[in-house]
Amino acid sequence: MQQSSGTETGVAGQIAMVREVMGRRIAILAHHYQHDDVVRHADIVGDSLELARRIEGLKAEYIVFCGVSFMAETAAILAGPYQSVRLPDMEADCIMAAMAPARRVENVIAHLAGSTGRRIIPLAYVNTSAEVKAVVGRLGGAVCTSANAARMMEWGLAQGDAVCFLPDKNLAANTADALGIAEDERVLLDVRGDGRNVDPVAAGRARLFVWPGMCAIHHRMRTEHVAAARAAHPGALLVVHPECRPEVVKLADAAGSTRRIIEFCEQAPGGATIIVGTELNLVQRLAARHAPDKRILPLLPSICENMGKITEEKLLHCLQKILSECRVTVPEELSEPARLSITRMLEACA
Ligand code: SF4
Repeated sequence: MQQSSGTETGVAGQIAMVREVMGRRIAILAHHYQHDDVVRHADIVGDSLELARRIEGLKAEYIVFCGVSFMAETAAILAGPYQSVRLPDMEADCIMAAMAPARRVENVIAHLAGSTGRRIIPLAYVNTSAEVKAVVGRLGGAVCTSANAARMMEWGLAQGDAVCFLPDKNLAANTADALGIAEDERVLLDVRGDGRNVDPVAAGRARLFVWPGMCAIHHRMRTEHVAAARAAHPGALLVVHPECRPEVVKLADAAGSTRRIIEFCEQAPGGATIIVGTELNLVQRLAARHAPDKRILPLLPSICENMGKITEEKLLHCLQKILSECRVTVPEELSEPARLSITRMLEACA
């Protein structure tokens, strides 16, 4: 992370000026998938778990969240009553989160529980809307991230008869593989009929119901890309995000959260070539950080366009808006005569 300086010109310089005026009243948080132009202005850069953990310790009045809407919502839920969370582009949504609308989640789980008579514990990946998190909270479930999905799935299984994991089917499958949950104990849901199309026998014995969502950015990485990368770079290491397909994860040397991917690159021996299966902005930043000691290449150049909706210009606009809200102004036609009346008093009482 690079801090912008007051000597910079253009958009970066203007951001630096607003930051100088506002000081610690503003904190800028950026997800690892943000572009470098945005990341360089951030006070904290992290994955969704790391950023959520940092909210409680923040004293800033304004938290500017450079990520997607579910992350900003999580920050708003965790922020104090005197804090305001801003997203520089309100249309920066996560495609995966949009695949699990709250009403449907509620209907599917109600139907599964009603038709089987079993206690189904919803487990929502953090990539879900605040409405879905509220449904999950009401139904006795919890939220998880890619870093703690296995621990939380075990927790859910201990709370009830089965877990309904949403919305990422790949993270669900990879986590179930890690926990040894057999294929015939899993049911991939057809959510179009609010769960009515599920085979009742399978539903009666399932330990895991899987919502059929996915992250388009990670799901497009396939075994062919792994084969091509292995052929082009013999001896290279491969690390991927668990939102990738299970067949890709099985071919990798390691799989884990964004934090785990960063650590894997740090801990790899000098001279290593590392193929990374995650969002391109992070892969490029890792490549720049470790060059020339290690060579870091993308498994597939895959960009999250929603993360990319946050630009340096939109960040500046958001900061300027905060600044204008904070500035006390007096209409021009009033300020001159009012100034005269004040200065007369000051002079008379000098
Ligand atoms: S990378 Fe995937 S999971 Fe992350 S915000 Fe983009 S669409 Fe959502």
